[in-house]
Amino acid sequence: MRRKTVAIPFTSLNEGRVSFHFDWHPESTGMSQIAEIPEPLNVDARVTVLEDGYLVRVFLSGKVGLVCCRCGGGFLAAVSGEVDTFHTTDRTQLDGEEDGEVRLIDPRQEALDITPDAVDILVLSVSAKPLCSEDCKGLCPHCGTDLNKESCACSREQTDPRWDALKQITFDE
Ligand SMILES: [Zn+2]
Ligand SMILES: [Zn+2]
Repeated sequence: MRRKTVAIPFTSLNEGRVSFHFDWHPESTGMSQIAEIPEPLNVDARVTVLEDGYLVRVFLSGKVGLVCCRCGGGFLAAVSGEVDTFHTTDRTQLDGEEDGEVRLIDPRQEALDITPDAVDILVLSVSAKPLCSEDCKGLCPHCGTDLNKESCACSREQTDPRWDALKQITFDE
């Protein structure tokens, strides 16, 4: 089942350690680098039920469509990662020295929302300045030609104007 958010009903979190799998198809991640999510991302969650909250480890993997920051072209990139969080209704835990992030559970919620955890993994695994390839040539700053696909006249004539004077000089044979 495709889900826009990933959440685990508290009724399925009674005791011990429980595992869940989701196909996550977010409508939006709030990340401008991500142009599209062509197919659902795999989200696996392992929840350990404790007295004062839930210890959650979330794994994410899949592919996202990114926009190259140099040439503006779209390309697919693999994403994967994991985060550990502690979800609790106990406000005092927020200043604790826990490993990983502590999230406050809204007591009105009926499910443990791990969407922010999954988004965190995306943020960590997607570059702020994605490149379609390490040596992407980008666009010509003068005419806008995609220099990965073709070259343009201006790219050859980009000489320093201070040399123009030298071009005028002819040598007598
Ligand atoms: Zn590029
Ligand atoms: Zn050009």
